[in-house]
Amino acid sequence: MDHVLGLKCTICGAEYAVDEVSYVCPKHGDDGILDVVYDYAAIKANFSPMQLAHSPTDTGIWRYKPLLPVAPDSPVPPLRVGWTPLYTAPRLAESLGLKNVWVKDDGINPTASFKDRASALAVVKAREAGAQIVTTASTGNAAAALAGLAASVGLQAVIFVPKTAPPAKIAQHLIYGARVLLVDGTYDDAFELTLKVAKEFGWYNRNTAYNPYMSEGKKTAAYEICEQLTLTPGHSAYQSERRWTVPDRVFVPVGDGCIIGGIHKGFRDLLALGWIDAMPKIMGIQAEGSSALVDAWERGLQGWEMTPQPADTIADSISAGLPRDRNKALAAVRETGGAYLRVSDQEILDAIPVIARNTGVFSEPAAAAAYAGLVKAVEKGLVDPEERIVVLLTGSGLKDIDSAMKTVAQPPIVAPNLGAVRAVMGNG
Ligand SMILES: *Cc1c(COP(=O)(O)O)cnc(C)c1O
Ligand SMILES: [Zn+2]
Repeated sequence: MDHVLGLKCTICGAEYAVDEVSYVCPKHGDDGILDVVYDYAAIKANFSPMQLAHSPTDTGIWRYKPLLPVAPDSPVPPLRVGWTPLYTAPRLAESLGLKNVWVKDDGINPTASFKDRASALAVVKAREAGAQIVTTASTGNAAAALAGLAASVGLQAVIFVPKTAPPAKIAQHLIYGARVLLVDGTYDDAFELTLKVAKEFGWYNRNTAYNPYMSEGKKTAAYEICEQLTLTPGHSAYQSERRWTVPDRVFVPVGDGCIIGGIHKGFRDLLALGWIDAMPKIMGIQAEGSSALVDAWERGLQGWEMTPQPADTIADSISAGLPRDRNKALAAVRETGGAYLRVSDQEILDAIPVIARNTGVFSEPAAAAAYAGLVKAVEKGLVDPEERIVVLLTGSGLKDIDSAMKTVAQPPIVAPNLGAVRAVMGNG
């Protein structure tokens, strides 16, 4: 890994060689989340947008391997993760008085959420470390992703999720053959438990914002957004060979803050490489009942000054009392001039059918929160109509049918004859 210079603590800035520490900064314990530092000059000398323009997309995130913290010859899992579609959403845009809105559908990943980007990295790093067993705490999706990616390479996964996780997610864990332990407690409890258990049993730990490599997997979405925007009609091939197009604003649903931190990292990489010439404003969207980062942002707190709060929202994937990746999550918004916004559970639910009917993409509540956040930002006058806006749809609606069904009426039951249908259609 010559292209990786080391790991830098997000609290004290201390730098470590990759084999010097296993997960976090020793001076700051479990809060000392590390950021991977790259040798951009070395990467740039051997890798370029022009090369990528000629590189196949069916390798998903691995087409960016020179920008990922894995050994060049490390085997990668066979499932296709990433290179998810970026759809233009003209009807959504128009309904909000905007010109350019795109949605990125990460629900089409192998286990139907954005978390596959991180779990793919986890599996590679676990195998590099020679681990036989990988574990994670999760609200559901990270574990489903780990279970699926681990199954694809024959690794054993052990999963710790709150017993209240949606049944579809637990079904995924079980079907992929993971050992599943339902924790009688919150996600935060499951997280603490996994830290102890992994140390005790010597398992490879994928925990978000503890394992420094998860943000690195997640950052690939930022690369894709820029590369895909560049491929949009209206841009010359010439431009695509040298520089990528950057959106003006990206809406990200936020729980632990690992996705938003990863997205920020991806754009920072591209800026450092000179592949883009500006940063987008990053907008973090939280549910009202789990909005510790909105509070911290409003009050000007640093991540290490935050304290645990109760978390309760229908959007289970963004329910986090003490967001684990809070340092990176606050930096993403502060350093790009974005904002943190809260949306209510009702606004989240309302967004699900609106997104689906205007784009064809069915989202789980946490993903729909990103769009509810765009609606809120427009209401607050934070968005210019000309801006290029990307909304990250992070997970499939099939993950949580109970929530989706709250937003629609039960269909009528009809007798199997024409008259009954006429009566229901109101033209009998
Ligand atoms: C995990 C998750 C999020 C939030 O990601 P964080 O890194 O916890 O902020 C958003 N949407 C979905 C569907 C998720 O699974
Ligand atoms: Zn430190």
